[in-house]
Amino acid sequence: MVALVVAGHGQTPRRGTLKHPIIDSRMTGQEVFDGLDPKCPDEIRKRQKLVTVKYYSTDGRVHQGQLVIDEELVSDIKKVFALALLERFPIYSVIPISDKRFRKENRWDDELSMEANNTSAFNYREVTGGGRLSNHAYGRAVDINTFLNPYIKGDIILPHGATYDPKVEGTFTAESPVVREFLRLGWAWGGTWTSPRDYQHFEKPPKK
Ligand SMILES: [Zn+2]
Repeated sequence: MVALVVAGHGQTPRRGTLKHPIIDSRMTGQEVFDGLDPKCPDEIRKRQKLVTVKYYSTDGRVHQGQLVIDEELVSDIKKVFALALLERFPIYSVIPISDKRFRKENRWDDELSMEANNTSAFNYREVTGGGRLSNHAYGRAVDINTFLNPYIKGDIILPHGATYDPKVEGTFTAESPVVREFLRLGWAWGGTWTSPRDYQHFEKPPKK
């Protein structure tokens, strides 16, 4: 009891501030590729950069997470997260998909990350439904607040159990400052697509 009282008198710094963020992810440059699909070509993997970002989470505290993205898009991502921080737009967590909690049979599992409302970018995988590589496979797409901003195609809503309700904080609409900032930087937003409609998804494919 005594120890608790002492801590309450401010002897330890308050966590969840810009100076002392709550750490959601602290992986090494090697750990972020643990469990990567062995089919991923070296030239793609070598382009991926580990970016540290700060954000207000849904608890109103500042958190620190990490994102893996193509080297060409690092400055865009930093600008978007700086704006989200300024606007106090809540981002639930930003943890690379190689984290143990997002593994199924030791492979990266997008559904587990989406169900956890997690934000992530690089993932060497096909588009949802299959057929071709996703822009995530090149580190050129990011999914944000995935449970609040589902992927919708006909009757299919992913992650399972999610609903799209623009009134809930952390949900994207065309008016969201984060969406506008992505568009300003030349990214596309899946929330404007018709089928699928992919509210969580932002991408910037390479220029042809
Ligand atoms: Zn996506």
